[in-house]
Amino acid sequence: MSKFVGAHVSASGGVQNAPLNAIEIGAKAFALFTKNQKRWDAKPFDTKTLDAWFKNLEESKILPKHILPHDSYLINLGNPDGEKLEKSRNAFIDELERCDILGLDRLNFHPGSHLQKFGKKDPEYNEKIHYAELECLDLIAESINFALDKTKNVKAVIENTAGQGTNLGYKFEHLEYIIDRVEDKSRIGVCIDTCHMFTAGYDIRTREAYDKTWNEFDKIVGREFLMGMHINDSKPALGSRVDRHHSLGEGEIGWNAFEYIMNDSRMDDIPLVLETIDETIWDQEIKNLYKLVK
Ligand SMILES: [Zn+2]
Ligand SMILES: [Zn+2]
Repeated sequence: MSKFVGAHVSASGGVQNAPLNAIEIGAKAFALFTKNQKRWDAKPFDTKTLDAWFKNLEESKILPKHILPHDSYLINLGNPDGEKLEKSRNAFIDELERCDILGLDRLNFHPGSHLQKFGKKDPEYNEKIHYAELECLDLIAESINFALDKTKNVKAVIENTAGQGTNLGYKFEHLEYIIDRVEDKSRIGVCIDTCHMFTAGYDIRTREAYDKTWNEFDKIVGREFLMGMHINDSKPALGSRVDRHHSLGEGEIGWNAFEYIMNDSRMDDIPLVLETIDETIWDQEIKNLYKLVK
């Protein structure tokens, strides 16, 4: 078996509960927050929590490379405000360290938002990316280099976004731009969220559209950087730039795209994580995804 499907499970009561919640729904992969995602600070893990985490993880038989922790939503590695940027960078470093302590090798994060505070660069600077976004992307890359330099082992995995508001990362070119500027290429990767990809304007609903989108991904970003996926259907339409997930088959994307994914070798051996809206059917959604494997 080459596909590892799961969901973003709850870690309420402590990270040690996440592997148990994953087993409960028949997951072979999972995502979690290693701290309260709505707070800046977190207590360090105590020995009791760590012992239980490693014990439960072993019981789950889920490998660290199939676990994709997600960082706090407060972090903006491209924040134009110096003080807030520093706070974000420190929190990001703490998140990387927490993953390392848990024996995990990757951390999923949203690149950042420019908050309409940039835009001094020459418009001719890069024809593929709006000049207002470039400075912010530069800052994000600088933040990643800063954080990787101060930590070890854990890879920073950039998630593509829907491009809602001033969020960057909705174009493959944004991901490419950041990766190009990261010094240690062995510690950078990407996570592609199907809902975000679709509402950002990348169609995957037909064989033809799917192949076109993913060939573009291979060309611009590079498949070697794909280290996880979020498997979500989408409430909003193609190219709407709005981020609203839906249960598989219930939204605008539909089952065909998920069938292509389950039979695409690019997605072998990486965590494929549901962030769909009805967690009571995650077990069924996981089963249904495996049924699509030919
Ligand atoms: Zn996602
Ligand atoms: Zn989303």
